[in-house]
Parts: sequence; C-alpha cells; structure tokens
Amino acid sequence: MESILVLTHGDETGAQLSKGSLEAVTAGRDLAAQLGAKLTIGMVCEDSKALAQCPASLEARMLVVSGNVYAQARFASDAAACEAICRTAEPTIVVAPHSSRFARVMAAVAHRMHGCIETHIIAVSAANKIEGTRWFYRQRMEAVVTRESRPWFLLLDSGTHAVFTGEIAPVEVEQIGVELPLLRTQVLGNRVPEQRQTTPGISANGSSPAYGTIRPDAELLFVAGAGWTKKQPDGKIHTAKAGELIQGFLRVSGASLGSSKSLVDQGSEGSPVLPFLTHLNQVGQTGSTPRHAKGLATCCHGEEPHVVGWRFIGERRAISIDPNCGWARGKADVVYVADAFQVMERLNSLLEKPVPAETC
Ligand SMILES: Cc1cc2nc3c(=O)[nH]c(=O)nc-3n(C[C@H](O)[C@H](O)[C@H](O)COP(=O)(O)OP(=O)(O)OC[C@H]3O[C@@H](n4cnc5c(N)ncnc54)[C@H](O)[C@@H]3O)c2cc1C
Repeated sequence: MESILVLTHGDETGAQLSKGSLEAVTAGRDLAAQLGAKLTIGMVCEDSKALAQCPASLEARMLVVSGNVYAQARFASDAAACEAICRTAEPTIVVAPHSSRFARVMAAVAHRMHGCIETHIIAVSAANKIEGTRWFYRQRMEAVVTRESRPWFLLLDSGTHAVFTGEIAPVEVEQIGVELPLLRTQVLGNRVPEQRQTTPGISANGSSPAYGTIRPDAELLFVAGAGWTKKQPDGKIHTAKAGELIQGFLRVSGASLGSSKSLVDQGSEGSPVLPFLTHLNQVGQTGSTPRHAKGLATCCHGEEPHVVGWRFIGERRAISIDPNCGWARGKADVVYVADAFQVMERLNSLLEKPVPAETC
C-alpha cells in the first residue's frame, strides 16, 4: 500500500506556503485520491500557524518542523528537517516542489532514506503503476519514468499543476523534533534585484544595483529582441530609451525578463547592449524554456531556435515592425505590427496611471 508525503516550505515572506509547494499539494492530493492512499503534508517553516490552515481542508496528517532556524534556506537545517519528517511519515512516495530551496537538499534526503529521486517532474499519474513524466535533452524528448524502489522522491517543476486552494480552517499539527547538526552556514540576509522593491506585493529585504531578471513565478514573460538596439526609422539607435522603456515596464508589471540570443550576444561583438541583460536571460534552443501563463515578445523576429523556448508559454503575443516576421507566420496568438518604442511607451503610461477608485 502506497503512502504519499508532500513536503512543503514557506514563501519569501514566510506568511504562506510557496506557490510551488501549493502545486505539490495538488499533485499529492490527486495521486493519493487515485491510489486510495494515505496523505501526509510535511512543512518546513519559521511558523506554521498560518501556513497549515490552507491545506487543513484536506484532512491529511500534518507534520511540521518549525522555528527561526528554518526561516531561511540552508542545506544542513533543511535536509535535517525533511529527513525527520520522512522518518516520521514513512512514505513510499514523496512529492516536493523543485524550488531552489528543496532542489539542493532533496537528493541528499532521498539518499539518507535509501530511496530514489526524480527531478523536473511535470506530471504524476497512477494507472497500473505510479508514473512520473519529465523532459530530457532540452525539452526534445518526453519520458515516462517508473520505479519499483521506495521511497521514491518526485521533485515537481513549478507551473505544471494548479495551485492548491482549500478552505482556511483551524488545524492540529504534529511538531517534529529535529536533532540539528553543527550549522556552519549563517544566513545574513537576501540580496534581491531592485525590481522587487518596487513591484507591488513583493517584499524585499536587501538591495543590489542589478536589475530584476528571471522570475519563474511571474504571470508574464517579457522578451526583448535585438531590434531594440538596431537603427530605427529616424536612422538612429536609441539604446538608452530602450532600456528605460523595458525597465519601466518590468517595474509596473512585475514580468520576468527574457531575451533573444542575438541581443545578449551583441555585447561580445562590440554592438550597443542593454547592460541589465545577460545570457541567463536567453530564451530558446540554447537558452531556457520557461513556464509562464503569458508572453510578450518585443523587437524580436520569432525565429524557430528562439520560439522553441516558448513551448510552455500559454498565450503568446508579439510586437514587431515586420509584418513578415516569424511570429506573424503562425508562431504567436496575437501580433501587433507596430513600433515597440511607441507601444511600450503608451503601455507604461497606462499601467502607471492609478486605477480610479470606483473600479477598485
Ligand atoms: C544552433 C542555434 C541555436 C540558437 N539558439 C537560440 C536561442 O536559444 N535563443 C534565441 O533567441 N536565438 C537562438 N538562435 C538565433 C536565432 O536563430 C535568431 O538569430 C535570433 O533569435 C534572432 O534574434 P532577434 O529576433 O532578437 O533579432 P533579429 O533577427 O535581428 O530581429 C529583430 C527584429 O526586431 C524588429 N524590430 C526592429 N525595430 C523594431 C521596433 N521599433 N519595433 C518593433 N520591432 C522592431 C525587426 O523587424 C526584426 O524582426 C540560435 C541559432 C542557432 C543557429
């Protein structure tokens, strides 16, 4: 008989479970229902009082490791906490978010539990056997993995499951004691991109001159293409203005920032560059394949090696001055054939305007 454990942790604020954790709760709940198996939710957090209320409606066993030491991600304390929860729950299947916090400890936890682990899982099902689905080779091959050995740990990619929303209810939790090893890492604080300080609803407790870039949890992916730094109809280049418009949009929208390869390659070729972009922003065949509900490509041609990175973007829109660009040839849901400088200027001014009181 299988027994399912969902391991979760708090978000940056510590006031609620992270989005990835809530997706893992959905996956664990569905798997337990399919198998008729026992469900346990494990939490690693500073204070579980508010966090435990959301999954309370599941009527699952609730195991908690909490305290100041778990407010921050740290290998030694997180691995010890997850191990203690696993030893108490004795699960056969462990589902957890593939967050940076859990991705770095979960292989060690699986090893300590003499189990196996699969990473980057996008779907879990239980027909005859429990199966995990994942992509290999830069999203070219989809594999369905199954294993006999237990416990089997499955790290779920974010954006692959619905966020669990249960009725908030009072809940009884079981507090698990953990024997912590010597903690050699002291977490002094976070340094987060400046954008987060000005994005409504996102708190920050540090500062950095760098600009916000990749935000996997953002609703929207904004992609900048090489057109931003090319000669415009007036025969001139307007790189500074381009930077201002892009950063202005990120500030008001909280979008994640992606780039085409051509734009980030330009620096090494001595062409004008947008200083806040690096190859880490590159989306495409040789870049990343992010998951966002919506995407907006600007000044980008929409060639196949770039668009292949848009595979998991729900709704694709593009602004290009070229009516024959790749986006217009069936790669986008909506193409605005327009000057992106003008469109983004107007869009920013609309988004910056305060919402009239009667529409709130
Ligand atoms: C093996 C291989 C791997 C690759 N991997 C990747 C990858 O991972 N990611 C990637 O992005 N590319 C990749 N490429 C490169 C890819 O083929 C394209 O060359 C690249 O995506 C083009 O970038 P771009 O669209 O920004 O630039 P361009 O092709 O120069 O397009 C710029 C566009 O901006 C438009 N424009 C200019 N001014 C304006 C304006 N004011 N308003 C609106 N539109 C305007 C132009 O009309 C043009 O369509 C790869 C290529 C190869 C061969």
